[in-house]
Amino acid sequence: MNIFINLPRFFGQRRLLGSTIRKLRCVVFGLGNKTYEHYNAVAIYLDKRLEELGATRVYELGLGDDDANIEDDFITWKDKFWPAVCEKFNIESTGEEELIRQFRLVTHAPGDIQPNNVFTGEIARLHSLQVQRPPYDAKNPFLAQITVNRELHKGGDRSCIHVELDISDSKMRYEAGDHVAVYPINDSNLVERLGQLTGANLDEIFSLINTDQESSKKHPFPCPTSYRTALSHYVEITALPRTHILRELVEYCSDEEDKKKLMLMATNSQEGKALYQSFIVDACRNIVHILEDIPSCKPHLDHLCELLPRLQPRYYSISSSPKMYPETVHITAVIVKYKTPTGRVNKGVTTTWLAENKPEPGKPLPRVPVYIRKSQFRLPLQTQTPIIMVGPGTGLAPFRGFLQERAFARANGKEVGESILYFGCRHRDQDFIYQDELEKYEQNGDVKLNLAFSRDQKEKVYVTHLLEKDMDLLWDVIGNRNGHFYICGDAKNMAVDVRNIVLKAIQDKGGRTESEAVQFIKKLESMKKYSADVWS
Ligand SMILES: Cc1cc2nc3c(=O)[nH]c(=O)nc-3n(C[C@H](O)[C@H](O)[C@H](O)COP(=O)(O)OP(=O)(O)OC[C@H]3O[C@@H](n4cnc5c(N)ncnc54)[C@H](O)[C@@H]3O)c2cc1C
Repeated sequence: MNIFINLPRFFGQRRLLGSTIRKLRCVVFGLGNKTYEHYNAVAIYLDKRLEELGATRVYELGLGDDDANIEDDFITWKDKFWPAVCEKFNIESTGEEELIRQFRLVTHAPGDIQPNNVFTGEIARLHSLQVQRPPYDAKNPFLAQITVNRELHKGGDRSCIHVELDISDSKMRYEAGDHVAVYPINDSNLVERLGQLTGANLDEIFSLINTDQESSKKHPFPCPTSYRTALSHYVEITALPRTHILRELVEYCSDEEDKKKLMLMATNSQEGKALYQSFIVDACRNIVHILEDIPSCKPHLDHLCELLPRLQPRYYSISSSPKMYPETVHITAVIVKYKTPTGRVNKGVTTTWLAENKPEPGKPLPRVPVYIRKSQFRLPLQTQTPIIMVGPGTGLAPFRGFLQERAFARANGKEVGESILYFGCRHRDQDFIYQDELEKYEQNGDVKLNLAFSRDQKEKVYVTHLLEKDMDLLWDVIGNRNGHFYICGDAKNMAVDVRNIVLKAIQDKGGRTESEAVQFIKKLESMKKYSADVWS
């Protein structure tokens, strides 16, 4: 059961807070990620506040951590939650598990439906990609032309691309530091393979219709559509399936051993968790791999389409400034491609699609649905303010936009403060992206570069090592000169390490205690003088 509450309205309506809340019996489960500082803060607050206002907590607060295994957290919590609910409300549990489908299948025979009433990849409105109408947003993305798509690495076995998207006809505006969301298309080979493995006709037109007629969500994705379109545009087929999907697959196995295996992985026992970890997570098996390796499992494709999560757009930190490039948005993306323990090669959906869609002479430019998402990652209003930017790898992306913006301001006669960049990669001659541009900026006095090439010498050197040596400078910029500090890139390790170094600089060079240093950073954050644009 999902309950969505508009919190400001909920707590704002004073009349509600009296007798109604006191009658409320409630339970809260938060969905969060431990790499973020305010981990599950809303859920924790809601749980506490409801109790303060007189509501009765039916079962203890549950917290899910998407950095580990959020589904596991939920199932572990849910297993204790239901008995607590049954006890509280005097309900006798039958102990039987019932699998109920939320959506009903309707297959449209050829001729039953006009071809122009069939969705072909639109996110919401039929024909929205053919007949484009602003304003563009998550439900109505703009179909942008890819005008430039080039490799940035000069060597090595990894790939990072620079992509330019033409937004000139879109009326979309962006600022340096914003994100662009890209809607990907799944690999057609995997789509075909799923068709083969399920024995389905991918060109069949179908609709999935919610059995709950009251629900505002009539379909899991735009319907009617073909299975090919659903698998290409609407569902994640390369993500690692969660345990509830494995539980549903049990029903489609003809082999008892296969049933047992899937059932075990779907349970919350130590043995089940260990098998899920090794068979799915460690082996990086997606739904295609599972059906290949458990051959007696033949699910109905419409049910799979219902179970698989909706294909999400991927965000990219825009690596250009609208001052220099008002008509294009630049992306700097590292291509996801890795070998799995089963000998397969897994590829990232979006980065693979982008890498394969390069402009070619004599052919129409490739196009991709996108929209701009505003961010809080902003340059200081005053150009004179000094800034420190820490962005190893593709963490450089938004800082390329920042540097363009500040170089533009300087070229237009504005006084521009110091711009200090910490960039790191493996090898100077392989993955030092935008080397020419950065060196030119340095020659012009637009940036002070601090470079860490981790594998160019015996001992590994990362940006954090450079920062540790520059404690005086860090404190001088953020403590004495009112400067801004920015981090972009890997949320898991780098952002935490950098924050700890800044905390240390505040203590050692700014003469603060540990708790004062924490407060100091918090104040900088609230004033948008310490900002992170990180992902994991
Ligand atoms: C706000 C924000 C800004 C971002 N900015 C950028 C940016 O500027 N540049 C950029 O390149 N990315 C950026 N990203 C990440 C980007 O959104 C995508 O997540 C990334 O490009 C991968 O997308 P994909 O569809 O190609 O891969 P997906 O199909 O989503 O696959 C990625 C998944 O594959 C798995 N995986 C990857 N490598 C391995 C491995 N070696 N072993 C096992 N599993 C693995 C992981 O589970 C990973 O989540 C940003 C993310 C956010 C949230």
